[in-house]
Amino acid sequence: MPRIPNIAIDGPAGSGKSTVARAVAAKLNFLYVDTGAMYRAVTYLALKAALDFRKETSLAALTRDTNFSLVQHLRSGVIELWCNGEDVSPFLRTREVSQMVAWVAAVPHVRSHLVRCQRRFAKNGGVVMEGRDIGTVVLPDADYKFFLTAALDVRLARREQELNSQVQSFDKEELHREFIFRDEMDLKREAGPLKAAPDAIVIDCTELSVEEVVVKILDVCGGG
Ligand code: C5P
Repeated sequence: MPRIPNIAIDGPAGSGKSTVARAVAAKLNFLYVDTGAMYRAVTYLALKAALDFRKETSLAALTRDTNFSLVQHLRSGVIELWCNGEDVSPFLRTREVSQMVAWVAAVPHVRSHLVRCQRRFAKNGGVVMEGRDIGTVVLPDADYKFFLTAALDVRLARREQELNSQVQSFDKEELHREFIFRDEMDLKREAGPLKAAPDAIVIDCTELSVEEVVVKILDVCGGG
């Protein structure tokens, strides 16, 4: 039987990759894996346990002791991330988590453990996985790779819209600073930096709707 392909989608915050990846997965009936949620989950658990974020060994131990599982509700399409028996999904997009996640994601032993989990999710194929290092590190053999970009003002506007829809209050300037900081950290870290794989198809989403990007991806993957 032919193996079911895996699709890797990388890009910076606000590039639209989550919405696009989710729609592509739904269209193809694939599993959608949001790897950013896993880094956010470790950050949430570290905040909850009041860990010292400067202690890389504590963050690595916390990651190692956490069992990650995805629960997909077939009827609604909702996917929950569970950590050691707790559905952490509702707690992952708070300001506190967003402010600290890039620190956690820069710890090499946190990354190596999460990368192993992510590969397990993809081992049978049929996965649309999105993040920063999927095409380069997690699934270098992915059948299809995409890297989504968009102008900073467009990315910021998308994040503002998302926060508004969650009725979260925010300060525009603070959000701007957080975005630039996270971009810098993600681009410059040694382990698994934000980078397009040499064989990834780069799509500039600045002037494209979600639907247009989804169509482009499905055209390449043969699902259009
Ligand atoms: O995708 P999202 O913005 O939710 O990711 C949150 C953070 O998790 C990113 O800013 C990055 O620091 C980290 N991340 C990562 N590698 C991934 C996915 C996310 O380092 N594959």
